[in-house]
Amino acid sequence: MKTRTTEKIIPPPPVHFVGDGFRVHNFIPGVHPLTMERMDPFILLDYNSKYYFPPTDRPRGVGVHPHRGFETVSIAYRGRIAHHDSFGNSGVIGEGDVQWMTAASGLLHKEYHEKEFAGRGGDFHMVQLWVNLPAKKKMSPPKYQPITNDQMGRYHLPGNNGTIEVIAGSYKGIHGPASTFTPVSLMNARLKAGATADFEFISSYNTALLVIEGSLLINGSDKAPADHFVLFSNDGEQFVIEAAEDSTALILSGEPIYEPIAAHGPFVMNTRTEIYQAFEDVENGKFGWLED
Ligand code: MN
Repeated sequence: MKTRTTEKIIPPPPVHFVGDGFRVHNFIPGVHPLTMERMDPFILLDYNSKYYFPPTDRPRGVGVHPHRGFETVSIAYRGRIAHHDSFGNSGVIGEGDVQWMTAASGLLHKEYHEKEFAGRGGDFHMVQLWVNLPAKKKMSPPKYQPITNDQMGRYHLPGNNGTIEVIAGSYKGIHGPASTFTPVSLMNARLKAGATADFEFISSYNTALLVIEGSLLINGSDKAPADHFVLFSNDGEQFVIEAAEDSTALILSGEPIYEPIAAHGPFVMNTRTEIYQAFEDVENGKFGWLED
């Protein structure tokens, strides 16, 4: 097995707000070389690094907006997120939990800090990842997979050195609960100081990690501090991480879809015509209705 080397270790870019509740570093797409094509099938990664929001009785967030053509995966490390959609679905993503939302053919939704959390104030720390769908699946019906922390697959590192929480894909025979349309692996590596863990993915699969907390040494030589994004080359299968202190990293790897991408705001399709169609379908109520 060959070592997968690091291509680039990317510091967090300047923040911007999505609505008034998500203070994010946008890594994908935009930070060189993280185009939608480079990290295919991962087409967007917004990272709200740990940030304190003071108490408010008007929960912060982002109002009604549509999505079509892909999946949104929200991973909450700190804080709680509430969501509502145009088909009457709603829910809360709690600390340590994940919501895997298949927008596919389209819906309207809104995402806010959960009311009680907003009222109390506190640290907010989360990732939103968009996973593209192949052309054949873009018009599938929307669905949700709420994945609580206790439902994730758990691999315990030897010597009580930490845990790999498997959300999707598998790690050393431990499977994650998320069902995906194409091969995708997503996991949290929670390592004690000094612990190591190795990961193995097919070399053509686009692979990266985001340091959520702590600090890592990659393949024994490359330093990755907190909030840094590590892009791996497609030159081997295996990489090793070592925790310089107690650390958490989000590991992502997926088989590229290799299809043309036509993206405009909340729509990610294959052609411009399909983007125009999406605007028209929103106008005509095909995404349902949701009050702000
Ligand atoms: Mn959204």
